[in-house]
Amino acid sequence: MAKATLKVILLNHTKQPEETIAHAAKLCYSPASIGELKNQIEKFNNEKFVEKLLQLGHLSPLEHAVFTFGVEGISRACSHQLVRHRVASYSQQSQRYVSERSKKDHEIFEFVIPPSIEASGKKGWFIDKMREIQNWYDELVEVLGDSGEKSNEDARFILPNAAETKIIITMNVRELLHFFSVRCCERAQWEIRNLATEMLRLTRKVLPSVFSQSGPNCVKGPCTEGKMSCGNLEEVRKKFRNL
Ligand SMILES: Cc1cc2nc3c(=O)[nH]c(=O)nc-3n(C[C@H](O)[C@H](O)[C@H](O)COP(=O)(O)OP(=O)(O)OC[C@H]3O[C@@H](n4cnc5c(N)ncnc54)[C@H](O)[C@@H]3O)c2cc1C
Repeated sequence: MAKATLKVILLNHTKQPEETIAHAAKLCYSPASIGELKNQIEKFNNEKFVEKLLQLGHLSPLEHAVFTFGVEGISRACSHQLVRHRVASYSQQSQRYVSERSKKDHEIFEFVIPPSIEASGKKGWFIDKMREIQNWYDELVEVLGDSGEKSNEDARFILPNAAETKIIITMNVRELLHFFSVRCCERAQWEIRNLATEMLRLTRKVLPSVFSQSGPNCVKGPCTEGKMSCGNLEEVRKKFRNL
């Protein structure tokens, strides 16, 4: 089946993220050595302290904790928006080193079908277009000499934004808060919103002291979108409360 579906895996994260954040923050205010502080912090429940840091807006200590996600089943349209977030690290499957050439008859490269296209009754038509693109791609690879990455790198110019991609993302906690504030918002495009919402669900389980109030800005304050507001504040707040 060529249709791709979103899959997000939390691959790794800073062990004891609250301790790491608290250690960095307390160092700013304490005459103690780093080792002494570490011993003190290990004895505390640091949840309340981290919550207080957020209230104070002392956010730089959050940069010491990072989360790594594996993401599959997103379109190139989505990954292009994702990588605009510069305070992060990415490794993305290459369309140069990985050929999209069909290996079997009628096999099409993986692609994402927007729900609106599924709902419009045009799904079959859309898949036919993807099949046509596959044929054009295969033809181009032949024309370009089928020499691995050299033909892939130019044949890919015929591939659509719908083409599926895989990416590994590492973001620190401060950047995640920012990413969720703009990309979980109803104003964000549906695919990156779904991705961001799933990433938030996973991080909230590990670090609730930071992420329980996270999401679009309206989760803990007024909407910041002005005239562009979705107007569904209560619905959105409920969604993120119950994530
Ligand atoms: C609803 C929506 C619609 C959008 N539409 C468009 C569009 O039409 N066209 C388009 O091009 N983009 C669009 N974008 C992308 C947007 O402009 C940003 O590029 C993207 O959201 C990355 O976020 P960011 O710039 O806040 O920061 P990140 O890269 O995530 O960085 C986090 C923060 O670090 C700071 N920072 C990072 N780099 C710098 C720097 N070089 N200088 C100063 N401060 C820095 C900023 O405070 C920034 O907010 C859209 C985004 C959204 C959410």
